[in-house]
Amino acid sequence: MYVSDCISANERGHLTIGSYDTVELAKKYGTPLYAYDENEIRKNLKEFKKSIDDEYGGNGLVVYASKAFCCKEMMRVCMQEGVGVDVVSGGELYTALSVDFPTENIVFHGNNKTYDELVMAVENNVGRVIVDNLTELETLNTIAAEKGVKIGIMLRIKPGIDAHTHSFIKTGQIDSKFGFALETGEALDAIKEAIAMSNVELRGLHCHIGSQIFDLDPFELAATVMLDLFKQVKDETGYELKELNLGGGFGIKYLKSDRPRAFSDYMRKVSAAVNSYSKDLGLECPFILIEPGRSVVGAAGITLYTVGCVKDIPDVRTYVSVDGGMGDNPRYALYQSAYEVICANKAGDKREWTVTVAGKCCESGDLIQEWTRLQPVEPGDILAVLSTGAYNYSMASNYNRIPRLPVIFVKNGKAREVIKRETYDQLIECDI
Ligand SMILES: *Cc1c(COP(=O)(O)O)cnc(C)c1O
Repeated sequence: MYVSDCISANERGHLTIGSYDTVELAKKYGTPLYAYDENEIRKNLKEFKKSIDDEYGGNGLVVYASKAFCCKEMMRVCMQEGVGVDVVSGGELYTALSVDFPTENIVFHGNNKTYDELVMAVENNVGRVIVDNLTELETLNTIAAEKGVKIGIMLRIKPGIDAHTHSFIKTGQIDSKFGFALETGEALDAIKEAIAMSNVELRGLHCHIGSQIFDLDPFELAATVMLDLFKQVKDETGYELKELNLGGGFGIKYLKSDRPRAFSDYMRKVSAAVNSYSKDLGLECPFILIEPGRSVVGAAGITLYTVGCVKDIPDVRTYVSVDGGMGDNPRYALYQSAYEVICANKAGDKREWTVTVAGKCCESGDLIQEWTRLQPVEPGDILAVLSTGAYNYSMASNYNRIPRLPVIFVKNGKAREVIKRETYDQLIECDI
């Protein structure tokens, strides 16, 4: 009935997440807040992991892209489920290290890692640094040489595939700041350079073709383009690349009309292509890495707000203002992202109004959703915005010095804070 299986309504007409009454959550922890169904997150991780077992005989690793939602507890959940994590900054790496995450299963991304971040990666023996450019390759090799170690790397390749997604989140084509271009020969040159270096171990190649992709074909095409490059490298250098990282980008449901494919469909189709095409090319099927982010946490999370005022402008529109906004969810302001909004304490009522849900920031563009259907609401009602589990908390800001929201995990009828609400004292902590 809702965009996510973990969302429902109870006999009181209240919206629930993981069977927990959201109105009770709002009462207990205050609003605004983020809530996740922990079982839903674990279910998604298990499903990806099972696909690696089923389709590649376990010869692979699921790596959760932690930029989608990063905190210590999320790192612990990944650890418990036996999946790795992808980090894109010293801060995300620090979070993983703070819970003793096995560093062999950490993948370190980024198109402009700083010198200090590369040192941190080498000192902690991160399993795979995904090298983006030649400057980074040379710096990393030098740092590893100074420390007398060898660091595992993969090279990020732009396979040149247009995945028909929103242009702001398209990263696979040649006009992208990420990675080495294939068609110019840049990729092959970098591979040869990496092979010749003595303090990096080139484990394989990486590609990530975009985000929120529903179509399976671009993933399959990317895999075959990458395998062609594996073959070319073998023919020209004799070097056998052992690992293929296919990135993330699997779409999720934000609206009922969205039709994402099941993870298992994606895995089946891509693995069939990888298995048969590597055989055709006379290559051993590589160790496969996948990096789901949004699809692990997106539909498992919601945001709860309290309605402050309702402003009806006749013949124009009705603004419903809530106690959060672009600070906790910048995605509408950035990409006009679609979301489903529900009055949590009137979930059983008909959605008869068409409204614009606005935040409390001093910015006209501070909107959560425009022209969305909603139950008739009044001040004090609780609003739930669904599928906000990915790129909301992680993209949050303190604009207008509004403290960051707490994150609550719900599981088997119990709720617990995994991130506390930021305090005013913490807001001024770094001020001098
Ligand atoms: C963002 C990103 C991901 C995760 O993408 P989702 O769309 O959230 O699945 C995976 N790999 C890389 C390199 C990324 O930049």
